[in-house]
Amino acid sequence: MIFRFFFGALAPLFWFSLSLFSTVSSADTLYSDVARVCQQVGRKLASVSTKECLSNPFSKPRYYSVNGRAILEASFPASDDNKDAPRILFIGGIHGDEYSSVSVTFKWLNTLQRHHSGSFDWHFLPVLNPDGLLQRKSTRVNANKVDLNRNFLPAPEFPEPLVHWQKQAKKRLRYYPGHEPLSEPESRVIHELIDSYKPTVIVSVHAPHGILDFDGGIQAPRKLGPLHLRQLGTYPGSLGNYGWFMKGIPVVTIELPYAGIMPKPRDIDKMWTDLVSWLKYKAKRKAGAVATADNAVIE
Ligand SMILES: [Zn+2]
Repeated sequence: MIFRFFFGALAPLFWFSLSLFSTVSSADTLYSDVARVCQQVGRKLASVSTKECLSNPFSKPRYYSVNGRAILEASFPASDDNKDAPRILFIGGIHGDEYSSVSVTFKWLNTLQRHHSGSFDWHFLPVLNPDGLLQRKSTRVNANKVDLNRNFLPAPEFPEPLVHWQKQAKKRLRYYPGHEPLSEPESRVIHELIDSYKPTVIVSVHAPHGILDFDGGIQAPRKLGPLHLRQLGTYPGSLGNYGWFMKGIPVVTIELPYAGIMPKPRDIDKMWTDLVSWLKYKAKRKAGAVATADNAVIE
């Protein structure tokens, strides 16, 4: 069972104790791994303060990046009477230079903290690529210079990501998929969570294409706030390819319009409410035992 910390209540005490003692106990170390990332996020992003980051119910870190930074995880479980609720794995910042994908994910975490009803089970990773984000000049790739969104296992009908990169992607360094699939600790987090958490849907936030992309055999959301559905196709080794074609889990890819400029608060709210409406619609169809028909709507 995940040991959950509620930093909202504990943060002031924690900061005070850190400033008093140069050596910390093992429990404090667990806090400090999360706090260190939150502190760095707060320094890096104008739209997310350290306090805001720490206000989330981040669990004891289970996973770490190449450079040893904690991969933040926050769970918002379904209510006890709703155990069949859809499970949503929500990922921000798989590309470290897409700042808004992290900042907006934190805004949606704020919304969830205020309004979580237990109708869905959420698992958030707001900063999947902390090493890419938290360096002087942020990078798309991780500390091993691997594009995590090309580092997943490809579906059998797709070429190996490395071959695709050499031939189709013209060896552009931004898209280097790694020497083999799942070579990176950050992509292995998703691989492990797909097996252990068994998400019903995966949502991944990117920028700056300003569209909504979707991989899945069910009816895609037509739009989320200002973002309209435009399916870009799938790349070998990408999360969309892996999640849907290998694991059968629909993947919603939110492409915010700008990497360095936040959407308007109204649009951030509307994207969230549209996403939740789509999830409700999807859950209702499943509850109505129309799963076969649901699957028949091929996008
Ligand atoms: Zn991206």
